[in-house]
Amino acid sequence: MRKMTWLKTLAVFVVSLGLWGGPSVTSAAAATVTPFGAQRFAHDHATYVITTKSAYYRRIWQEAIQAWNQTGAFKFEAGTKRHAQIKLDTDSRQQAAMMGDNVGVTQYWAKNNDLTTVTSTLNPELMHAFGYSRADDEHVAEHELGHAMGLNHNPSKDSVMYYRDRSVGIQKVDVLGVEERYHTPAGESD
Ligand SMILES: [Zn+2]
Repeated sequence: MRKMTWLKTLAVFVVSLGLWGGPSVTSAAAATVTPFGAQRFAHDHATYVITTKSAYYRRIWQEAIQAWNQTGAFKFEAGTKRHAQIKLDTDSRQQAAMMGDNVGVTQYWAKNNDLTTVTSTLNPELMHAFGYSRADDEHVAEHELGHAMGLNHNPSKDSVMYYRDRSVGIQKVDVLGVEERYHTPAGESD
């Protein structure tokens, strides 16, 4: 699901990850590279801060960051609460009601297709209710970080960016997608 709201020059985007849909969802032909949108950070690195109060989800975010950093395609660097470009959180009780059946949501602000601020939020209550394993939780965090870097959904199930991903971690196609995203100017998508 994708919603867009246009302000004067600052665009706000929201992308979300729904619950696992089960076997009725058919997989499209494998995309060779995970697609990306028109927005990107100025460089292939950005600062983050983890704001969730949950020790468990703090670790989930940290592990997802580590997994992406190990690919070498992008570098998430620890920042301060005040200046970090990316904020990683879990939802409040109030937000949970608005999350609907989304286990994760990423909201980003862009000016002339340059990403300025990104907020990714996990929905622990829902993941817990649907029996997500620790690995599943990590994949959701990796998926949201994929959006944070500018990746779109991959129609193939063999991608962390599949729109209902839960069981698949970062794949080669996803790493290639990030590399292409940062070798392609802002404003151009694939
Ligand atoms: Zn998504």
